[in-house]
Amino acid sequence: MRVNKTDSPIGRVKCVVNTCQYYSNGDQCTAEKIEVQSRNAADTQETDCATFTPKG
Ligand code: SF4
Repeated sequence: MRVNKTDSPIGRVKCVVNTCQYYSNGDQCTAEKIEVQSRNAADTQETDCATFTPKG
């Protein structure tokens, strides 16, 4: 899911994925919105951020 980058990080979300193009210093996410998958996940390992895009 490709979304716009914003100037204000998402509140109440800590993300440590520093290889994502939306990652910002302080473990913040600057994507305008994020999507977390997947439905019916049974544990932590089965969830992830579908908005992740590698730094280009
Ligand atoms: S888009 Fe997802 S992986 Fe990327 S910084 Fe935001 S929360 Fe982290």
